[in-house]
Amino acid sequence: MSITAQNISKRFGDFVALDNVSVECPAGQLVALLGPSGSGKTTLLRIIAGLEFADAGTVLFKEDDITRHSAKDRKVGFVFQHYALFRHMTVYENVAFGLRVRKAPEDKVQHRVMELLKLVRLEEKARHYPSELSGGQRQRIALVRALAPDPEVLLLDEPFGALDAKVRSELRSWLRRFHDEFHVTSIFVTHDQEEAFEVADSVVVMNKGKIEQFGTPIEVFEHPATAFVMDFLGNVNKLPVRVEGGKALLGETGMVELPAKLFGTKENGKIDAYIRPHELDISRTAEGGNCMTAKVLHINPAGSVVKVRLMAEDFGLVITVDVSPERFRDLALKTAEVVYVTPKSGKIFDTDYTI
Ligand code: ATP
Repeated sequence: MSITAQNISKRFGDFVALDNVSVECPAGQLVALLGPSGSGKTTLLRIIAGLEFADAGTVLFKEDDITRHSAKDRKVGFVFQHYALFRHMTVYENVAFGLRVRKAPEDKVQHRVMELLKLVRLEEKARHYPSELSGGQRQRIALVRALAPDPEVLLLDEPFGALDAKVRSELRSWLRRFHDEFHVTSIFVTHDQEEAFEVADSVVVMNKGKIEQFGTPIEVFEHPATAFVMDFLGNVNKLPVRVEGGKALLGETGMVELPAKLFGTKENGKIDAYIRPHELDISRTAEGGNCMTAKVLHINPAGSVVKVRLMAEDFGLVITVDVSPERFRDLALKTAEVVYVTPKSGKIFDTDYTI
């Protein structure tokens, strides 16, 4: 079932939490609402859930206008950050809860609960209480409890926010696996870019009560629509440039020219260029002269790329460059050495932004 939010606005007093937001989540997709704290993600999710009502706008499930329906009439399953399991009920009773509310026959309840517990490999915990489970196990139970009554929509608010990095990553794969098994249209809120990109089919990037971009993870990463999206996705060098007579020149002195494809037909003036760490090259010679002289501050070799942080003193800039392990071996870089950094590509946006 598709979920559509059309022209949703919501104020809390004078504060505009959502400003004319429209988004369409296609049937069967897992969609992430991604954005910084206070950008309106939870408010939008709660309006879709029926836990909050919009001041203006419409919510559709498929073609049905459910804007004024209460949460219990929307056939929605929820998972929250803080497990919200019933503490006085066993794991079995927690998962059975939604089925019992709907007065499902006992044999069906038993079959469904055990089937779901088996799926999350917690059937031996059926008679245990939530306090006897780890955080990750509780959240797996919260997930199957939400799925037990066959909801048409699953909404998750920072479902793994309270867990440590390893458990978080395990639960991401659970969520994806569940989604592939049940195909319930699902929306989850996160402020973690990596989580959104790893799990979701589509990502909605939000900022200050508005949607900056909607797209697949690849679209959003490779073609960020705005400076905010580019910056929010992390690990980007923001370098001041002067655009002058069809050239984009780096820094106050303008000694380095950025590749022409970066800036297109931008007007003369000062603006920021956004250059990802892999879009910069390090070399030991000043090939072609169009490069910044920079001193190596720090090298982080842990990971599939080597992260090098450098100080370009002429520009007053600290920059991060990703180098492949092979290139790193060839360069044999050491801290405090002086090298040359050349921009290969990057992006300039028409309008700049401030956080
Ligand atoms: P977070 O990741 O921190 O949860 P968010 O993107 O989910 O952030 P929301 O929870 O939707 O953001 O909140 C958006 C803004 O609306 C915040 O500034 C918040 O303080 C405000 N807000 C949310 N609910 C209420 C409320 N019931 N009363 C007053 N202000 C509210």
